[in-house]
Amino acid sequence: MAEIPGARAELDRLGRFMHAQVRELVSRLTPEAQVSPGELGPPAVSDWHEPLQFRHTMTFRGARPDTVPPAEMGRRAAEALADAGWAVEEEIADAYFTTGRRDEVVLRVRVSMISDVVLYQAETPSMAFHTPEPLVRPEPLRTADTLDPGYVLCYECDGLGWCSSCYGRSWVPDAERGRRRCPECHEDRVCPICRGSGEKYAATLQYYERGYYPELFEG
Ligand SMILES: [Zn+2]
Ligand SMILES: [Zn+2]
Repeated sequence: MAEIPGARAELDRLGRFMHAQVRELVSRLTPEAQVSPGELGPPAVSDWHEPLQFRHTMTFRGARPDTVPPAEMGRRAAEALADAGWAVEEEIADAYFTTGRRDEVVLRVRVSMISDVVLYQAETPSMAFHTPEPLVRPEPLRTADTLDPGYVLCYECDGLGWCSSCYGRSWVPDAERGRRRCPECHEDRVCPICRGSGEKYAATLQYYERGYYPELFEG
């Protein structure tokens, strides 16, 4: 897994651009709103497949003044976006929708026909910050040479110590969702039998466990 140089900085640059544009639009269309869009937060994961993809999103609810009918507000939104250099699409369904696209940033304004709500939603493109992380089996915590005196290698993980399904990552790849909780360790990350030590104390092994070590307990 290697960092992709400049990826995070580029996404944050797009996020700041998006944020500034939404603030500008809000101040032009619904300036009476008491609160303005807050600070830009950290990007969120938009796709859990490897490598993880991130994007900035924001949502802001403004209020349409009584003096401006919904259709007029929709028209003003389209005009304001076009003035700011966005490629604009308009659609009328159960509300007036105006969508602007610029630098792969998408900004939508939804003007309700039945209330005074003007909803602003914006998102940057999704970007990965790292190259894909291959699932590599880690080095075992114990080998036959590094066992503590009186101990044997754990029969479940053979000294690995980590959960043998997720290798300690707590998740396993999922074709549809990208990741899912490890079904083996339930996010404990370690082998359920040795609890992460990679070894078992021979003298206290249960009867059924001794069957895993015929060379020690036969006869
Ligand atoms: Zn696991
Ligand atoms: Zn184990």
